[in-house]
Amino acid sequence: MNSFEHDLAERLTALRDQNLFRELRQVDSAQSARIQIAGKAFLNFSSNDYLGLATHPALIEAAIRAVDTFGAGSGASRLICGSLKPFHELETELARLKKTEAAIAFSSGYAAAQGAIGALIGKDDIIILDKLVHACIVDAAKLSGAKIRVFRHNDVGDLEEKLQWASQNTMPRIVRRVLIVTESIFSMDGDIAPLREIVKLKDKYHAWLMVDEAHATGIFGENGGGLIGELGLTDRVELQMATLGKALGASGGCICGSRRLVDFMVNRARPFIFSTAPAPAAAAAATAAIRLVQSAEGKELRKKLQANISEFQSDPGINPARSPALQYQSKSGPTASGTSRLSPIQPIIVGDEQRALDAAAKLRERQLFVPAIRYPSVARGSARLRITFTAAHSREDIFCLVDALKSLDIRD
Ligand SMILES: *Cc1c(COP(=O)(O)O)cnc(C)c1O
Repeated sequence: MNSFEHDLAERLTALRDQNLFRELRQVDSAQSARIQIAGKAFLNFSSNDYLGLATHPALIEAAIRAVDTFGAGSGASRLICGSLKPFHELETELARLKKTEAAIAFSSGYAAAQGAIGALIGKDDIIILDKLVHACIVDAAKLSGAKIRVFRHNDVGDLEEKLQWASQNTMPRIVRRVLIVTESIFSMDGDIAPLREIVKLKDKYHAWLMVDEAHATGIFGENGGGLIGELGLTDRVELQMATLGKALGASGGCICGSRRLVDFMVNRARPFIFSTAPAPAAAAAATAAIRLVQSAEGKELRKKLQANISEFQSDPGINPARSPALQYQSKSGPTASGTSRLSPIQPIIVGDEQRALDAAAKLRERQLFVPAIRYPSVARGSARLRITFTAAHSREDIFCLVDALKSLDIRD
């Protein structure tokens, strides 16, 4: 072995020793409520395709039509070779969904975070993050060179302390900008940020707010626009971020906000400028999805999703002590409008990494696909089964999952 291979072998062994080694599992079917792995059918509780749109005929047809008209690839960055029509249609629909002046599409949510944060702030600025924001935001914050402060998860008191610190540090005009970043539904805990309180604080301290609606887009709000719209905060959040690859069933990411914000992104967001535009088919599929989530069918799918989550949660075997999403709900009570707002992400915290892997393996024996999520996706020692629900699950699917979970030995 040469030194390069030797180094890799040692590092891989270290990962295995800590039960943190990961492997890809080949899936031979489309992503939906049922998937095929190694010739066996599994009930799938791992996907973020919350409304089952990834295999919806409207999206598939839109993608095929886009391939027919615009081809398979985009040729270059949109600033270099011209900007294909499907992206403009997508951005118009995104702005309509989010009720913002404008929107800009990126090749992924990850790229959207890098682009937006990297363009807006630099080393003289301050970025304040919720402890549990997604890795793409943490990476973008680090790359920006800004001073990073982290507030305790969903703790507005702690956020205010960080804002006070920031305002003291802006006095001598050394540090100019303060950006707060949080999510609406958190990707691994499934709980929800106190956005109203956060908006009040950011106004009080003259900071800016970016909210990542990766998991709320398509599923919260009257028209599926997300939590910001549902709470009536659209005009008070500087940057709305979303992904097109979760409830919208396609792929890509976006930033929505003012026309000036989008003009600035086109000029300054490096992953937008220095990367080939996504495939036109992905944009066309996302556009079809956005139209769909705002339709009567979209509303029905959201209702079915909520019914599935509620079926799962009403099982007395679910231990709230292991479920951050349930704890959040019992604290927050019903929403002001009385509508249900249950999170499609329902983790069961197991703790130990090996125990989480064993639990997932037992579920696979029963042909249930539920991922064991470990460090670095979550903190060490907080490994979990991350169960996600979709509108494509039937009631029987939920019963099947609940039954299998009961047979697991998840002790403290
Ligand atoms: C998935 C996810 C992203 C990244 O989006 P991609 O389109 O998958 O790159 C960003 N933020 C959160 C909270 C996510 O869960």
